[in-house]
Amino acid sequence: MATNKDYYEILGVDRNADLQEIKRAYRRLALKYHPDRNPGDKEAEEKFKEAAEAYSVLSDPEKRALYDRYGHAGLQQQGVGFTGFEPDIFAEFSDILGDLFGFEDLFGRRARRERPRRGEDLRYDLEIDLEDCIRGKTVEIQLPRWETCGECGGSGADPREGMTSCPTCHGRGYVVFHQGFLTIRRTCSACGGAGRRIRKACSYCGGQGQRRVERKIRVDIPPGVDTGTRIRVPNEGQPGLNGGPPGDLYVFIKVRPHPVFERRGNDLYCVVPVNVAQAALGTQVDVLTFDGLKTVEIPAGVQHGEEIRVPGLGVPDINGRGRGDLYVRVEVRIPKKLTREQRKLFEQLRELLPAENEPQARGLFDRVKDYFN
Ligand SMILES: [Zn+2]
Ligand SMILES: [Zn+2]
Repeated sequence: MATNKDYYEILGVDRNADLQEIKRAYRRLALKYHPDRNPGDKEAEEKFKEAAEAYSVLSDPEKRALYDRYGHAGLQQQGVGFTGFEPDIFAEFSDILGDLFGFEDLFGRRARRERPRRGEDLRYDLEIDLEDCIRGKTVEIQLPRWETCGECGGSGADPREGMTSCPTCHGRGYVVFHQGFLTIRRTCSACGGAGRRIRKACSYCGGQGQRRVERKIRVDIPPGVDTGTRIRVPNEGQPGLNGGPPGDLYVFIKVRPHPVFERRGNDLYCVVPVNVAQAALGTQVDVLTFDGLKTVEIPAGVQHGEEIRVPGLGVPDINGRGRGDLYVRVEVRIPKKLTREQRKLFEQLRELLPAENEPQARGLFDRVKDYFN
C-alpha cells in the first residue's frame, strides 16, 4: 500500500523545493537505502520505497500540483496516485540512480527502456484418451510462436543500415522544456523514449523484431493425469524481451469420455450384464480391461447393481502411489421373451421360490382394509 506520510517530509525538502532539490534529496535517500546496499534490511527497504513513492509524485508537475492542493486523497481521486509498491520501481527510477553513478544513457535510461522481460506463458489444450491416462504418452504438439528475429537480433532494424539516433531528442529518449520556473522532462514521442530510430526496417521480419514460427514440441504425459491436470513445459512459452528468459508452456489436459469405462478419481467403473440364472448361480465373465482380458468372478446370489471390486486395474496415481481399482457393476437382465421350454422352467421356479413381495402385499391389503373399517 501507498504511504500516508507527507512526501516533502519523506524527502526532507521544503514545500517549495524545486525539481533539482527534490531529485537531489531522492538520490541521497535512494543511495542510502537502496536494497543492494542494505540486504535483508526491511526498514531500509521501506524507506527506499517511501522515497521512491514521494519522488514519483513530487517530480511530476501534475501529480505534485494535485498533491499540494488535496494531499494523498487528491491523488487517489484522480487515479494518478501511487497505487502501492511495484517491483518495477527499482527499474523505474534507475535513471536517477544511473545519473548518480554516471551511467546516464548507458545504464540509466537504457536499462529502463530495454530492461529484460520474461516472456509470456502459453496455454495449450490437449485432448487425450483414457487409455493415455493409464499408460502415459509422449505427444508432439505444434505450436505457433513468436521468436526473436535472428537477422536483426530483435531490433527490427536492417542489420546493414542499423539504427540512427533519434533526431528529435538527440538520442536521449526525452525532451526537456521549460514552463515558468519549472523544468519539465517528457518522454520523447518521436522514438517512444528509446532514443533510437530504425533507419531501414529489417526485411526478414518487416521491422517487428520477431518472427512467427511453427514449433514442434514433445510433451511427456505421465500416467495418472486427469481432466484439469496442467503440465508445465519450462522455457517453451513466448521468448523473453531484451535478453529476458522465455515463459513456460502449460499443457491443459482434457480426457475424452470412454465408451465403456467411467472414471472416478483413480477408480474405473464398467457394467457387466448377467441373466437371472447367472446371477442366482454365480458365473465368470471376461472383461476387456486396459490390462487385457480379465476373468471376473461373479458370486452366486449377486444382486442387481452390486459392484465387484477388481483391485489394481484402475488408473495409476499421478504421484506414483499405486493404482486405483476396477469396479464391475452387475446388471441383472430379465428375459423379455421366453421360449416354451424357458417358460415352463420359470413356472416351475415360481412354484418353488418364495414370493418376494407377499408379506408386504398382505400388509398393504390389511392396512387398506383397516382404513375402510
Ligand atoms: Zn528482423
Ligand atoms: Zn527521440
